Amino acid sequence: MRCGPLTEGRSWLSIRLCRVQPRHRTECSAGYNAVLPTLDHTCALRFEAVTQSFPKPSGEAHTALEGVNLDAAAGTFLSVVGPSGCGKSTLLNIAAGLLQPTSGAVSVFGQRLDGVNRRASYMFQQDALLPWKTVRENVALGLTFRGQSAAESNQLAGEWVRRVGLQGFGDSYPAQLSGGMRKRAAMAQSWIVDPDIVLMDEPFAALDVHTRLRMENEILDLWTGSGKTVLFITHDLEEAIGLSDEVAVLSVGPASRIIARHKVDLPRPRNLIDIRTESGFQELYKTIWSGLRQEVLRSYEQD
Ligand code: ADP
Ligand code: MG
Repeated sequence: MRCGPLTEGRSWLSIRLCRVQPRHRTECSAGYNAVLPTLDHTCALRFEAVTQSFPKPSGEAHTALEGVNLDAAAGTFLSVVGPSGCGKSTLLNIAAGLLQPTSGAVSVFGQRLDGVNRRASYMFQQDALLPWKTVRENVALGLTFRGQSAAESNQLAGEWVRRVGLQGFGDSYPAQLSGGMRKRAAMAQSWIVDPDIVLMDEPFAALDVHTRLRMENEILDLWTGSGKTVLFITHDLEEAIGLSDEVAVLSVGPASRIIARHKVDLPRPRNLIDIRTESGFQELYKTIWSGLRQEVLRSYEQD
């Protein structure tokens, strides 16, 4: 098997065989993925011919996604862009195991996904902070659900509160935070459980442009060297290029499918404040946008 673009001649991801953390092996021997063939480690997430239909109120089926093929090599940052309503969140819900595809399959490190994806954490578009819990308690939630002791959870949550720049706000409640601060708390919430895969659904879409840039830089800081695989959903092409190793384009719905995959070989570390003015960035933007704009225009025609 390979973990790379499915189109001919674009198999650059297939040579990235070694960006897998030793802890995968630890987890494999400890539990749910007892035997993993070595090559399967290259693919953190793989969608094969995934189709998702929903029943319409009329009783007919609405096919949101049809025959989606996509894979993310372990340790890479993959973004999916596409017009509004094309099925981006649906794709992420399938990766999280919250939705069982109508047909096709998803595999996680070579194992067919059946039920909730326990190797992934999910950062939703709207943060899921509990209003009656403090920031530190919210950040600790994932550890608490795992059965970690209150003392351990509290200590680690305190460290993450500082790590995402919320020092001094651990005892505050979500309503006392700005939008950017809430995002920081949500980020800590999804990274504290040390997932192999981080699923993010337009997490910064509601932020003002400057806060958004800061958060994007911070997500890159967290991800760099972590070995984690990120599947990042956005409708913002600049954001996708700035963050990613690869950008995949979903066509307009219904029956959306992946219509292009583009490698982003801009050097890292990246400074997202300046990267947009670089010629390599702009060239890539033009190339990807030439395909995406048709999908966006078609989506306008449907409105
Ligand atoms: P995006 O995130 O790209 O904006 P979504 O994945 O939310 O798009 O939705 C894709 C399509 O599937 C839309 O037409 C939406 O109305 C439909 N859809 C999504 N979830 C459901 C559901 N649970 N029931 C019925 N239709 C749904
Ligand atoms: Mg969505």
